[in-house]
Amino acid sequence: MSSGFVRPRTLDEALDALAGENVLPVAGGVAVGLLTNLGLVPPSRFVAIGGVSGLHGVALGEDGAELLLGAATPHARLAADPLLTGELPQAAGMFGRIGNIRVRNRGTVGGNLALAEPAQDPPVLLAALGADVLAASRSRHRRLPVATFATGPMATVLEPGELVTQVAIPRLGPDERCAYLKFLPRTADDYATVSAAVRLRLDGDTVVEARIFCGSVGPAPVDCATAADLLVGRSITAAGRFEGIAAAVAEAVAPVTDHRGGAEYKREMAGVFVCRALDQALTTPRSYGGRA
Ligand SMILES: Cc1cc2nc3c(=O)[nH]c(=O)nc-3n(C[C@H](O)[C@H](O)[C@H](O)COP(=O)(O)OP(=O)(O)OC[C@H]3O[C@@H](n4cnc5c(N)ncnc54)[C@H](O)[C@@H]3O)c2cc1C
Repeated sequence: MSSGFVRPRTLDEALDALAGENVLPVAGGVAVGLLTNLGLVPPSRFVAIGGVSGLHGVALGEDGAELLLGAATPHARLAADPLLTGELPQAAGMFGRIGNIRVRNRGTVGGNLALAEPAQDPPVLLAALGADVLAASRSRHRRLPVATFATGPMATVLEPGELVTQVAIPRLGPDERCAYLKFLPRTADDYATVSAAVRLRLDGDTVVEARIFCGSVGPAPVDCATAADLLVGRSITAAGRFEGIAAAVAEAVAPVTDHRGGAEYKREMAGVFVCRALDQALTTPRSYGGRA
């Protein structure tokens, strides 16, 4: 196989080009560029997917139940997309706060998920929202939950030759709320020290479903299912509505000490930020899109 860059125009051409040994897709090139310069990516053939039709933009799924994000859509475009900002401003806001303007203009949602860096933002909110990765190779198409897509730092369930084509987010119903918070004690363009995402479904005042995920506190987004289960059946107006949640989150996460903070500090902050995210989800007026 020849080395160098190929620039397919269609998905079929891209999948054909990706079949074979030592071939790497490149979307925005934000991470691939750095990794290549550091000598961490072996010389290989690169398949630049930015020009592939059908991998860009935001659309409603055929049955109207999902929002579909094209894998090669840059973060900045997602942050400004009218459908996403109207439907799910929490997601648009999250994309708008990734890194800095250079990273947002080049980096894509598919590249972000495939990179699987544990401090990234999209995997945490998308996991809480119950989103799926749609992946394709020459031999099959499959749906993979974002919640279990990353298996560790820089590792995913994707197989060689497989491309992320879209991310499918179930639309929020009128009885649902969500929020994403990123704790940035150092600089506004840093990776999160801790991040927290929640999605809740209510029946009147009562929580009937809850999903809670934290980022930067484990090798992949951490599913705080025990904390989420504690919320189910509780009244959102009760004084002790979040009682025990922070402790259950602290129990679930597995942070490491690094230049962004000590492990115990991050463990405590994960609980704090989950409670703040819950509060934000419940107190933000639901005056935007979503399913009627
Ligand atoms: C200074 C800096 C700050 C940053 N801050 C943040 C931050 O605050 N929050 C955050 O979430 N992220 C942050 N990032 C990470 C950034 O969001 C990702 O590097 C970027 O999204 C990667 O997207 P890309 O399109 O450039 O991927 P590329 O560099 O093109 O590819 C990355 C990896 O994904 C693979 N890949 C790319 N597209 C696909 C696809 N469609 N299917 C399968 N595999 C694919 C590539 O082969 C490669 O292994 C930061 C990065 C930098 C450099």
